[in-house]
Amino acid sequence: MELLKERIRKDGVVRGTDVLKVDSFLNHQMDIALFEEIGREFRRLFADCGVNKILTIEASGIGIACITAQFFHCPVVFAKKSQTKNIAGAVYTTKVESFTHGKVYDVIVAKQFLGPEDKVLIIDDFLANGAALEGLIDLVHQAGAQLAGAGIVVEKAFQPGGARLRAQGVRVESLAKIKSMSEKTGVEFEED
Ligand code: 5GP
Repeated sequence: MELLKERIRKDGVVRGTDVLKVDSFLNHQMDIALFEEIGREFRRLFADCGVNKILTIEASGIGIACITAQFFHCPVVFAKKSQTKNIAGAVYTTKVESFTHGKVYDVIVAKQFLGPEDKVLIIDDFLANGAALEGLIDLVHQAGAQLAGAGIVVEKAFQPGGARLRAQGVRVESLAKIKSMSEKTGVEFEED
């Protein structure tokens, strides 16, 4: 998605060798006109897949998921990073290692909001090592729901998550795929 790549080139900030900060338009301040184009593109890519639910993970996936859901006319469920140990039986739960903080979180979704009748599109802002996406896919499987695929805004293709998940047969559509990046030279994208 050219508009997104242009924005990353203009306003993205590379930190170290593997973190891209996009706080001015995606992760902190949010450019809703850009989100609308992102949502429209996810709809184009996953049209006719019968998606009736969007699943994301708090916090930074929520805004993108909500705007995207307007194009699918379906609800958004966000997996919560839980502190509460025991909500026995009422939730699906999985563990996710946070890329940005290195901590392992318990992540939960209430059973009442995800079930066998659902065809799920997972939405997230970044794909790096794939832990967040794998956790969400685990929740979809636990629910007996069907997975349409995953829509990712920025994939850091030099990290292993995308290749591993595609090898497992998951349909992963990323709107900007970063081939390499450095503080000195900035971001280089893969060809579409
Ligand atoms: P993964 O689980 O694939 O390793 O990482 C994905 C999650 O980590 C995303 O939900 C995102 O919030 C965060 N993340 C990973 N890499 C980056 C990055 O370069 N920049 C930002 N802002 N977040 C990232």
